[in-house]
Amino acid sequence: MTETLFSKIIDREIPADIVYEDDQCLCFKDVNPQAPVHYLLIPKKPIDRLTTAEADDQELLGYLLLKAAEIAGQAGIGDAFRLIVNNGPGAGQTVYHLHIHILGGRAMGWPPG
Ligand code: AMP
Repeated sequence: MTETLFSKIIDREIPADIVYEDDQCLCFKDVNPQAPVHYLLIPKKPIDRLTTAEADDQELLGYLLLKAAEIAGQAGIGDAFRLIVNNGPGAGQTVYHLHIHILGGRAMGWPPG
């Protein structure tokens, strides 16, 4: 997998406003926030999109979901938040390193755009 903006953030080659980190994942503020709280949670493992994740990644993907909920709680939006994974260009994916958007702090419309 080629280097991406997010692998450079993991490697500290470009700066980010990091809110959480452990051995498996990194969470930082989205540079173009769409809500008062808008974080991106990424695995350190370079998976380019959800559909290229493999059976071996099952535990990691579950870990990320649980971690997203924990981080939302710590951000004060634990009762109302939205998680988004854009998969592929048609869905709006622009960075090809798997990421979960964590959004909250305002009312969320449905259906999403
Ligand atoms: P997606 O469109 O789902 O691939 O989401 C990519 C997200 O990365 C967008 O919401 C961008 O605003 C965000 N983004 C791009 N560059 C950076 C950066 N250097 N630091 C933080 N967020 C970024």
